[in-house]
Amino acid sequence: MTVMLKMQRFQGYELKCKCGCGLLNYDNLFLMKLEVFRDLLGSRLEVTSGCRCIEYNKAVGGKTSSLHIAEGKTAMAADVAPLDVKPQKVFILAIKAGFFNEVIWYRDRAFVHLGIDPNQKDLFVDVI
Ligand SMILES: [Zn+2]
Ligand SMILES: [Zn+2]
Repeated sequence: MTVMLKMQRFQGYELKCKCGCGLLNYDNLFLMKLEVFRDLLGSRLEVTSGCRCIEYNKAVGGKTSSLHIAEGKTAMAADVAPLDVKPQKVFILAIKAGFFNEVIWYRDRAFVHLGIDPNQKDLFVDVI
C-alpha cells in the first residue's frame, strides 16, 4: 500500500538566492525534511536565506563551506523565521525532530539556521 501525504511545498521564489541571480539548487531530501518540519511546527516559515551563490555567500559573511552554497553542489541549509510562533520553538523542535545536524539560533535576528551536513556525524547546536 502506498500512502501519499499532501505536504505544502516551498515555492521557488522562497528558496532561490536572494542576490537576484536566481540560483535554485536544493537537495531533495533536505527540502522534504524542511517541509515535514514546517508541518510539525504548524507555523508559517519565512525563508530569510535559502540557496546562495558563492559570491552572495561571501557578501553575507557565510563560511566558504556553508551548506547554503548551491553552486557546484546542492544546498542543504535554510535560515527560517517563524511567523506564527517564537523562534525558540523552532530551535527546540529542530533539535528534538532530529532532521538536521546543524541547528543555530540567531537570537537577535530572530531566525534559525537548519542544515544537514553529510560529512558530520554529531549534532551541532549553537545560539548566537
Ligand atoms: Zn546569487
Ligand atoms: Zn544559515
